[in-house]
Parts: sequence; C-alpha cells; structure tokens
Amino acid sequence: MSDAVDPECERLRQYLLAGCSSDPYLLALWFVDPLHRVPGNPEAEESQLPFEHLDVCQQCERWFYDTVPSEALKRQARMLQYCCSSMFASVEEWERRQVNRFAYSIYPTGDVCWSIDGRPTFASYCPWCSARLPDKPFISSPDWPNGKG
Ligand SMILES: [Zn+2]
Ligand SMILES: [Zn+2]
Repeated sequence: MSDAVDPECERLRQYLLAGCSSDPYLLALWFVDPLHRVPGNPEAEESQLPFEHLDVCQQCERWFYDTVPSEALKRQARMLQYCCSSMFASVEEWERRQVNRFAYSIYPTGDVCWSIDGRPTFASYCPWCSARLPDKPFISSPDWPNGKG
C-alpha cells in the first residue's frame, strides 16, 4: 500500500507537470526559483502550494527527484545567479552552444575586466539584458551548489 498515491498528491504532481509541459529542465527552473513563478503565469499565487507540499511529503519529494535529474537542478540553480540566461550560456556553455565567450578576469592593472572571446573589453553592462556586470564572477565555484537543489 506504500505504492498507492494519495489523490491529492497525484493532483499536485499533475499540476507541476502541466505547468512545465512535462519538461524536467523547466520544472527544475521553477523549483529553484525562490518565488516559484509559474512559467507563463508569473503572478499566480497558487503556484506556491505544490512546492510547499514537496517540503512536507516524502512520497512527492521522492517523485520530484525521480522526475528531475540533479544535473537539471544544478544547471537551473546556477542560471538564476546570472543576470539572464544569455549571459549564463556565454559564460558556462559557450563551447557547447557555440556562442561568444564571456569571462571574468583581472587586468594587469588590477582592474576588473570582462573579456569576450579572450579579448579584454571592460564591458560594464550585459549586452543582452543591460544589467550592470558584477565586479566578481557570477558564481565563485564551478561546483556550486553541491548536492541536490
Ligand atoms: Zn504528496
Ligand atoms: Zn544579462
């Protein structure tokens, strides 16, 4: 009987899958967003409920980690540390995606320097979203966050 899924649990799981079109990477992004904004429906208050349930229901928590690969959770958690997904891609996935490479560096003068494809540019703003670039890397460790979530 431990395999029986409570109807309320099943309803919440279906809600989560429908909200992300059954895309585990989208579900991971939804999960790691502290505001849990529903993809395509950022104002929906009810979207908090399934995530609160995951915190208190071991069955659903296990279902979640079976559904969403830990690699997806790590990637999406890291992406949220960046100003936008384009910047994330050009810092962390430029090789695979064949896009320009953005990198944090320190110029010989000691100044912070964001380089593009290895050339120092001293860019101050993100070319995609216009956010001011930080004076340190977006994420200090390539392993962050360790483990799940
Ligand atoms: Zn449950
Ligand atoms: Zn940006």
